[in-house]
Amino acid sequence: MNRDLKKITAKVSKGQRISPEEGLLLFRHADLLTFGEIANVVRKKLHPKRIVTFVVDRNINYTNVCVNKCTFCAFYRDLGSPDAYILSKNEIFRKIEETIAQGGTQILMQGGVHPDLNLEYFEDLFSSIKSKFTIQIHSLSPAEITYLAKQTGISVIETLKRLNCAGLDSIPGGGAEILVDRVRKKVSPNKIRWRQWAEVMKAAHHLGIPSTATMMFGSVETDREIIEHLVRVRAIQDETGGFTAFIPWTYQPGNTKLGGTSATAVEYLKVLALSRVMLDNFDNIQASWVTQGAKIAQVALEFGANDFGSTMIEENVVAAAGVSFRMTKQEIVNIIKDAGYRAAQRDTRYKILKLEKKIL
Ligand code: SF4
Repeated sequence: MNRDLKKITAKVSKGQRISPEEGLLLFRHADLLTFGEIANVVRKKLHPKRIVTFVVDRNINYTNVCVNKCTFCAFYRDLGSPDAYILSKNEIFRKIEETIAQGGTQILMQGGVHPDLNLEYFEDLFSSIKSKFTIQIHSLSPAEITYLAKQTGISVIETLKRLNCAGLDSIPGGGAEILVDRVRKKVSPNKIRWRQWAEVMKAAHHLGIPSTATMMFGSVETDREIIEHLVRVRAIQDETGGFTAFIPWTYQPGNTKLGGTSATAVEYLKVLALSRVMLDNFDNIQASWVTQGAKIAQVALEFGANDFGSTMIEENVVAAAGVSFRMTKQEIVNIIKDAGYRAAQRDTRYKILKLEKKIL
């Protein structure tokens, strides 16, 4: 076993791609510090200047009504529920104004898949945002885009073209959960299957719309299914090169129908490092301070992460599961500096806007 592990770590050090079987062996048998070591080798090669990036943005959840009713989700409400809402345009504008006032460059708008909000609604919303503000619209996950296409009776590619024309700049990788249908049938039975998620991402990338890719783990998946997920996003990236970053985050069981427990910090760090090692065609791996808190996210920088995600001036989805870590821009900068790195504010496409001295 040790010999096999040594062979795999040697391959990673030489910059060679590891196979699914090698990934599984590593995942099951390497100890935590070995994970840190090899993820750091990859990270240092890709980001030798010890810069850790973050974006200043706000999540705007325009509605909490959702037809998908995923069993792992604590955020959604049924249509007609007393606390169901749709934000008005003016409320959305006010949130964008506040974001820009804090140096924000991006908004991440995600629902709920609300049955009454159609493609015209989003075209109007995005074009009016673009006419009033200079801000990147990083919005609508593949599940929302697929729903809009179906509702309108047009293809995913046509839907994306219309949204892009109205102002959609990039797509968050949300709703990936685990890209294996056995898991999806348990955690999000009404949501798109993995091939549809992949179809939206490939179509977006072919149109020049970048996206992130995510993975929610720690619910009902097996080790092999985590590997399958990584292999599938790696294959899409080989084909399109359109993913800007990979963001693994842990299932948060509070207030959900699925229940159960969350992954431990050690499991999180191992999966993060495994992602860094297997996704040799991804430039950026993001630490999830929103689910792990600042301290584990700081350690994550030694386990392959080179990006701290966003300041998330507002976050509602993870908070609905009872987990609400918050950090200011200054705290993020301090955490990064304290870990021995240079903080840099970036934009949606990971272009550096300001290095640390100019941020504060
Ligand atoms: S995870 Fe997203 S798609 Fe699933 S119920 Fe929650 S809001 Fe709806």
